[in-house]
Amino acid sequence: MWVNTSPHPKLRGGDLLAPGAPMSHHARVTPTETRAALERLALRPSRALGQNFLVDQNIARLIVDAAGLRDSDTVLEIGPGLGALTELLLDRAGRVVAVEKDARLHEFLRERLGRRSNLQLLHADALEVDFASLVTRHSSPLKVVANLPYAISTPLLMRLVESPTRPSLMVLTLQREVGDRLAAAPRTKDYGALTLYTQLYYDVRRAHLVSPSCFLPAPEVGSAVMTLRLAPHPLLEPELEAPFKQLVRAGFGHRRKMLRGALPKSELGGWIKSDTLEASLARLGLPRTARAEELSLAQWLQLTRTLIAQPPPTARPSN
Ligand code: SAM
Repeated sequence: MWVNTSPHPKLRGGDLLAPGAPMSHHARVTPTETRAALERLALRPSRALGQNFLVDQNIARLIVDAAGLRDSDTVLEIGPGLGALTELLLDRAGRVVAVEKDARLHEFLRERLGRRSNLQLLHADALEVDFASLVTRHSSPLKVVANLPYAISTPLLMRLVESPTRPSLMVLTLQREVGDRLAAAPRTKDYGALTLYTQLYYDVRRAHLVSPSCFLPAPEVGSAVMTLRLAPHPLLEPELEAPFKQLVRAGFGHRRKMLRGALPKSELGGWIKSDTLEASLARLGLPRTARAEELSLAQWLQLTRTLIAQPPPTARPSN
């Protein structure tokens, strides 16, 4: 079901999308206010930067609620835009780091919210920010809350997932289709390498679907608010993570092929022969005809362990 709500009737606020407005009021996240702010800034939303601004206050609240914020939390917001989420985050978290690539929006937010003592605004490309540097030795693990720019949502997500200081929780508004891939189950068309790379670390849930009309301009596709909660314990020994990812990539590189055909023909062919693979599949009780999309995460983990336990042939990974 789409979530598409009108502004909360009790919400009254000054025109806080205007820089320098009084701080005791909250921004009104509505189409009218957003349009007015864009006009004042003479800003035509950039498609390349994925500038679809949230214009529904209730959705903003649902997103921030999903992060279950406390005073002790540090939140990274990627792409704060006009601040639809930022102000709510500032009210609830101990510290907010907001990384915006667009200089005009960065300046707008600096004027509007720069006085908030728990806000750190960075004018930077989130694809280049060193996320680990945002976590101080004494702070609690990072949470991420963001309406991600669609064009770069997958590489950004992978950077976050691969970061040495993996966020403990992420609440991400994504293109619905990307959200479906993250949460996918085996034997579905959405299940793939992105699913497994993410679920290796995170429990992924869809919290809400969001209609295009909740954004200005409206994107062509629906969106989903996804929660990604870090698993309390690693599912795989650290030294097996790289082989796991290589295997998954090779398996889904030839999605329609059986694994016994796909893996030996991939870059892993140097160390995975058909017979070794078939023996491993048999040991795991899997049919020799198994395809990548038929294995659950647990079975991919088992397969990695079983294959790595094989005595290495002459040369293990070629790179
Ligand atoms: N958070 C705002 C909201 O909910 O209305 C804006 C979300 S809009 C979908 C994406 C935002 O990300 C825009 O403000 C855009 O300028 C910013 N952005 C795009 N690419 C970025 C990047 N590489 N690094 C940081 N911010 C980026």
